[in-house]
Amino acid sequence: MNTVAFLGLGRMGGPMAANLVKAGHTVRGYDPEHKAVDIAAEAGVDVRDSLTAAVTDAETVITMLPSGKHLLGCYQDILPSLRPGTLLLDSSTVAVADARAAADMARGAGHEPVDAPVSGGVSGARAGTLTFMVGAETSAYERAIPLLDVMAAKHIHCGAAGAGQAAKICNNMVLGVSMIAVSEAFALGRSLGLSDQALYDVASTSSAQCWSLTTYCPVPGPVPTSPANNDYGAGFTTGLMSKDLHLAQAAAEDNDVSTALGAHAMELYDRFAKIDGPHRDFSAIITAVIDGAFAKKESE
Ligand code: NAD
Repeated sequence: MNTVAFLGLGRMGGPMAANLVKAGHTVRGYDPEHKAVDIAAEAGVDVRDSLTAAVTDAETVITMLPSGKHLLGCYQDILPSLRPGTLLLDSSTVAVADARAAADMARGAGHEPVDAPVSGGVSGARAGTLTFMVGAETSAYERAIPLLDVMAAKHIHCGAAGAGQAAKICNNMVLGVSMIAVSEAFALGRSLGLSDQALYDVASTSSAQCWSLTTYCPVPGPVPTSPANNDYGAGFTTGLMSKDLHLAQAAAEDNDVSTALGAHAMELYDRFAKIDGPHRDFSAIITAVIDGAFAKKESE
């Protein structure tokens, strides 16, 4: 069993840490938010009152933080307090460049870095069924496997440092674009007198079949578990989709890759966040498509 320091006990980190406790690991946690700390303590996490107190003598440090800025700041604070050869596993979604910078910092201080962002959302974090996309040296990935197995349905070694974050933003760029494409199809279908169910029955068994349609269908009815049936109560929020599309576009610009649909999707989610706020599920973007909100100028 491992002694794990878990830093960032929010909506994702809290349940991930709780699953490690359930699996028998010793988990020390830190988060500046009182609410997150209280929930984690109830789940058996040994919550400490500082980053240093949480990481001292830990064999592994897992971070689940809001952004790359938080990650790099956190590494700066903790690296001097770690025991030599600590496994540093970061599951936050951050820019590829930040993941590589964090890995360089960790290696420079004598530790083993792993970037391992996740897909599967809060429900996957609770159920221990996340997908981890891993960027690391093979030895560090192998060291992380027993912990990943507790939190994951699947983990994929994508390559060296940064490769996990690269896979995550490429995947989410497709997701953001495909949700808009599916939404436009339902808007057009309705205007042509087609029922949502008829379009779903055809598209879900034809060449338009995709996750945004068959798992996360943005209209209520055809897929009873999709957020559309719950007034788009958050699963994966518009704010997080917007964040990931910005990371994808920044990476595309840095690497001179033209991603026209990804760029347009980013603009539309940004506009939608101004209309609807960042907190509902991102599939609610269909409401703006159906209302014709994107046909209007932003100032209207
Ligand atoms: P969250 O805001 O609920 O949790 C982040 C936590 O980090 C907060 O409780 C915050 O207080 C804490 N924190 C900030 N600075 C810290 C520090 N220096 N040390 C310790 N804790 C610190 O966010 P979340 O939804 O749990 O997301 C975490 C990460 O996972 C993000 O990078 C997000 O993009 C990614 N992600 C989220 C989802 C999702 O559905 N929520 C899905 C996939 C990936």
